[in-house]
Amino acid sequence: MIQSTPPNVIVIGGGPSGTTTATLIAQKGYKVRLYEREKGPRFHIGESLIPQTYWVLQRLNMLPKMKSSNYIKKYSVQFVGSSGRLSEPFYFVDHKPHESSQTWQVRRSEFDKMMLDNAAEHGVDVQQGVRVLEVLFEGDRAVGVRLQDENGEERIEHADVIVDASGQSTLIQGKLGLREWDPELKKAACWTYWEGAYRDTGHDEGATVVLQVQGKAGWFWYIPLHDNIVSVGIVASHDYLFKNRPSKDFETIYNEELEKCPAVKQRIANAKRSDIYRAAKEYSYRSKQVAGNGWALVGDALGFLDPLYSSGVLLALKSGQLAADAICEGLAAGDTSEAKLRSWEVDYFRGMERMRQLVLAYYSGLSFGKFVSQHPHRKGDITDLLIGDLFRPELDETLGLIGEAVKAHTAMA
Ligand SMILES: Cc1cc2nc3c(=O)[nH]c(=O)nc-3n(C[C@H](O)[C@H](O)[C@H](O)COP(=O)(O)OP(=O)(O)OC[C@H]3O[C@@H](n4cnc5c(N)ncnc54)[C@H](O)[C@@H]3O)c2cc1C
Repeated sequence: MIQSTPPNVIVIGGGPSGTTTATLIAQKGYKVRLYEREKGPRFHIGESLIPQTYWVLQRLNMLPKMKSSNYIKKYSVQFVGSSGRLSEPFYFVDHKPHESSQTWQVRRSEFDKMMLDNAAEHGVDVQQGVRVLEVLFEGDRAVGVRLQDENGEERIEHADVIVDASGQSTLIQGKLGLREWDPELKKAACWTYWEGAYRDTGHDEGATVVLQVQGKAGWFWYIPLHDNIVSVGIVASHDYLFKNRPSKDFETIYNEELEKCPAVKQRIANAKRSDIYRAAKEYSYRSKQVAGNGWALVGDALGFLDPLYSSGVLLALKSGQLAADAICEGLAAGDTSEAKLRSWEVDYFRGMERMRQLVLAYYSGLSFGKFVSQHPHRKGDITDLLIGDLFRPELDETLGLIGEAVKAHTAMA
């Protein structure tokens, strides 16, 4: 197929980070082409949004679509300890009385399609069923991509900037050897979906529940979706979940962990499984840099932390927004150099690190309830972190105190 004039920007991947970047650049009048290897809606994990996604969704003009969707509204998160004790729901609106405090539990095949359609409505040339095989460089500058269309035909296309939003395929990270594995988060997950499982009522229906297994070796997520489906998955260290087990079969492992979590077992006792068992591992990593000459990384192609606190889609949207703004500035100035495209790196990595510290504190066994009772005036900061308001340096003082509490807790254990 012969392509029309080359775009200013090529985006690889049509997940939340790719569609965000593409839409925001197209809004400024630049020509953007997005390549997604799958044709039509595809399965993806990452269903629970957090409140700070609101501000990026607003810029994308996605809020009216979200509001009129049948996604379950999420107002809170709730924790269940290994003894089965249920914490008070943690209502986001108690901290921020604003409509952004209500967010959504989405089925990703539907949400991602909505984002792709929205990108097309904003002028992005969305091409599905096209796989990018390679990002092409001249020296250290990205200049284009080699791709394969759905008929198996290969071609080369050039652009001023290449955005890698390929998720865990991490095309550029892999090519340039930029990946740094997280030394402390070596987790894995195994999950499936249940129809007719227990649901709370009213504002609590859409709460994400985080339930610790007995012995505290792992935790289950419990995420109510529409059509009476609940997403239920176990997260634990990779070695614990997949090594030294008589059976490596996902269903067997899942059921063994269910036995250690009666609170989940009861919730799905009368439910019917509606999907296969799925698993993911080796997902906690980060690139050494967010951009270079003529290229930028966003979403999982830049890095991913952990499923705890559901920060993945927020970070995908936020990095997409920051990259798009830097790219537009660069295109306007005729300067798409590394210095220009990396302008957001320091602040972004600091924000990501703040969420990481909160994740590590949970895995260390620190009780946030106890921490808040000792430092009541820090509750607001913890809420800010949980809703994804990660980019405020003032939060570092509270994180420092959390770090000290983790050290004291670990020394006592
Ligand atoms: C177990 C688990 C649970 C999670 N739970 C949550 C949660 O509850 N909430 C949350 O916010 N996040 C969660 N996440 C994280 C979330 O899934 C990701 O952070 C999010 O999907 C990242 O979006 P993305 O657009 O960067 O990448 P993706 O959503 O992976 O999109 C990448 C896209 O690129 C396409 N692609 C890949 N390679 C190519 C290629 N060569 N050419 C063309 N297209 C290509 C893919 O088909 C895909 O559509 C979870 C992650 C895991 C592992």
